[in-house]
Amino acid sequence: MKLKYMKQEKTVSPIVENSPAHHALSTCDLDECFEEDRERQEEERLGSMADAVHTLLKGIGEDPEREGLLLTPERVAKSLRFLTKGYEQDPEALLMKAVFTESYDEMVLVKDIDLYSMCEHHMLPFFGKAHVAYIPDGKIVGLSKIPRVVEVFARRLQVQERLTQQIRDAIQHVLNPRGVAVVIEATHMCMVMRGVEKQNSVTTTSAMSGDFLTSQSTRSEFLRLIGNR
Ligand SMILES: [Zn+2]
Repeated sequence: MKLKYMKQEKTVSPIVENSPAHHALSTCDLDECFEEDRERQEEERLGSMADAVHTLLKGIGEDPEREGLLLTPERVAKSLRFLTKGYEQDPEALLMKAVFTESYDEMVLVKDIDLYSMCEHHMLPFFGKAHVAYIPDGKIVGLSKIPRVVEVFARRLQVQERLTQQIRDAIQHVLNPRGVAVVIEATHMCMVMRGVEKQNSVTTTSAMSGDFLTSQSTRSEFLRLIGNR
């Protein structure tokens, strides 16, 4: 079965399209051509993802042709592309756009950052809060970039442990501060929904570097500021 999404026929054959003459003859400039290519690739990608969802629906015993499900494959494909858009974003490049020289050398803490991700083992959501701190060493980063970095890594298939470390490592690598601390508290739907006993359980992970590892008082101050959890 072919979904509506897949039915759009290409107007140019791949051979003609890739020949140098194609660009010379077409009225679009190079940027527009790249944009058209990108849009077509995205359509093909959504189409094959929607086909897979159609198969899944049959697999669970549903009728993909009934009214309520007709557009579901397409919706799920688009939703998944959104929820995993972090693959196409570079968190370190994002941070580098807003680095400033500054002599401030006390802890900078952004706490209670909303976090929504998906576990790579079940492709089910996990969500909660991230707390991120660093101690500058000559360089600071625009505060809004910290939640953005959390989001870029979260919008990929993840395990909470790796997500925590990736956030720490990106900040450590770009700012080279005296230390970074990241704590994530999250509820995993694969535990809660599947009834793996602890219905209200929260998983806490932490990743630290520099002063947060070597100085007990720095570490304690951070934990006290985030609520000593
Ligand atoms: Zn899971």
